[in-house]
Amino acid sequence: MTPEKLGLKPGWGPSKPRSGDPAHPLAAELTRRLGDRKVLSSLSERLNYRYDAIQFGVTPVCVVLPETTEDVVTVVGAARRAGVPVVGRGAASGLSGGAAPMQEAVVVSFTRMTGLQIFPGRREAVAQPGVITLKVSEAARPHGLIYPPDPASFRTSTIGGNLGENAGGPLCFKYGVTGDYVRGLEFVDADGNVHVLDRNAYDLPGLLIGSEGTLGLITSATLRLTPPPRHTRTLLASFTEVGACAEAVSAAIAAGAVPSKLEFMDRACVGAVEDYLGLGLPRAAEAVLLVDTDGDDLDTVQGELSLVEAACRSSGGDVRRAGSDAESAALWQARRSVSPALGRIRPQRMNEDIVVPRSALPEVVRQIRALGDESGFHLVQFGHIGDGNLHPNILFDPRRESVDAVHDLAHRIALVAIRHGGVLSGEHGIGTMKREFMRDAVDPVTLDVLRDVKRTLDPAGALNPGKVLPEAEAPETGEAARVHS
Ligand SMILES: Cc1cc2nc3c(=O)[nH]c(=O)nc-3n(C[C@H](O)[C@H](O)[C@H](O)COP(=O)(O)OP(=O)(O)OC[C@H]3O[C@@H](n4cnc5c(N)ncnc54)[C@H](O)[C@@H]3O)c2cc1C
Repeated sequence: MTPEKLGLKPGWGPSKPRSGDPAHPLAAELTRRLGDRKVLSSLSERLNYRYDAIQFGVTPVCVVLPETTEDVVTVVGAARRAGVPVVGRGAASGLSGGAAPMQEAVVVSFTRMTGLQIFPGRREAVAQPGVITLKVSEAARPHGLIYPPDPASFRTSTIGGNLGENAGGPLCFKYGVTGDYVRGLEFVDADGNVHVLDRNAYDLPGLLIGSEGTLGLITSATLRLTPPPRHTRTLLASFTEVGACAEAVSAAIAAGAVPSKLEFMDRACVGAVEDYLGLGLPRAAEAVLLVDTDGDDLDTVQGELSLVEAACRSSGGDVRRAGSDAESAALWQARRSVSPALGRIRPQRMNEDIVVPRSALPEVVRQIRALGDESGFHLVQFGHIGDGNLHPNILFDPRRESVDAVHDLAHRIALVAIRHGGVLSGEHGIGTMKREFMRDAVDPVTLDVLRDVKRTLDPAGALNPGKVLPEAEAPETGEAARVHS
């Protein structure tokens, strides 16, 4: 299997455009209608829009930078008449290949649609898709409000991309994911019609959220805001055994604690962050938990932290409470630095995003560690453990290590999750990376229903083709077939 087929970012791309290629007729038409300021058609410009954070795709025929919903309607209509697919793109920080075109397409890059209005009385923000995630909270804060969904990429990711993936983050255990904050959406469908939706009957916005640009292009979102908690407290717990760490999480929650953040890092992950930043994390621990509790009443916040502390200690953990805001910030800097820390170890990584029931976590973490050891790859685990969301990362160098073997290991990790009642993705989406694994995770009848939904909203398959749903004609041989038979 080739790296291109795997959807990995191997340092070479599948398409080999020539610099003398004439402008595509669609590029010429869109330039005529929208003006050349909004259409990028030179090869050097187009090359920059064929990838996301994990994968190279095909060089687009042109890139459109819309400024209004009408511009999006124009692109979708012209592309439909020309028979060219459309791929929506935010900041391209996605980790499953969502924004990388998999065939010749027009890329609609939303980075100029950055309109943002805050309505403090209604505790709402109305954001265009190109708004950077962090900007919503920055704009809301002077009004005593925040927007809680906090992917670690929130300084670069966009609201459109967050909606496309239904992004989560550390705060999501207590506060919920992107979709929990959406009151309404405006989107352009595959025929170029504009729809303005609230979340009543049939919850169509719910269908669009997490659909990875395959059902429509979101042009505006009404987002719920909430007051920030007045107090936050942090602790770090270290364990000599991963299972004990997972047990402590369940025990703390069973005791009534609802931490705002509940993050897990395994020994390999702690080692990578320590090598990078040297913040004093316990290198010898097999697993660490990083926990925040928050609220408006300090006694309650401290009490909740005590519940977590007691659960950790009774599971054999060593606990250190952050003594100051600075210490707390340093601990969270360690968590946010996982991605760059891993990038120093190998040039490539395949980032899994499985979710399993919390009760299965000890066994799942152990089995994945064993698979990693057996494979010889450098494997690191971390994640939002409160939600059962794990990110096993396979680090590799495609010049020296087999990309097929990486894919095989990723598939075996996905099967571990499925066997334990879990799912393929908590927040990064399916994209191209886990598309084939959908055969194992979703039974054939349900897959057909999903294909029907796609056909209803996008009959010609013009929106982000090659993502999420595997081709229908391939034989059903996966785990699901065995389970369902
Ligand atoms: C260092 C790092 C840390 C990360 N941490 C997290 C994390 O903690 N939690 C998390 O959830 N993710 C995380 N991610 C993944 C990524 O940042 C998120 O998936 C994010 O939501 C993607 O936003 P984006 O603007 O980059 O979207 P893109 O990558 O550009 O697009 C993502 C998907 O959305 C679609 N899309 C984009 N705009 C629109 C639109 N207007 N309408 C319809 N579809 C659209 C695209 O077609 C694509 O399928 C991380 C990534 C990195 C690199």
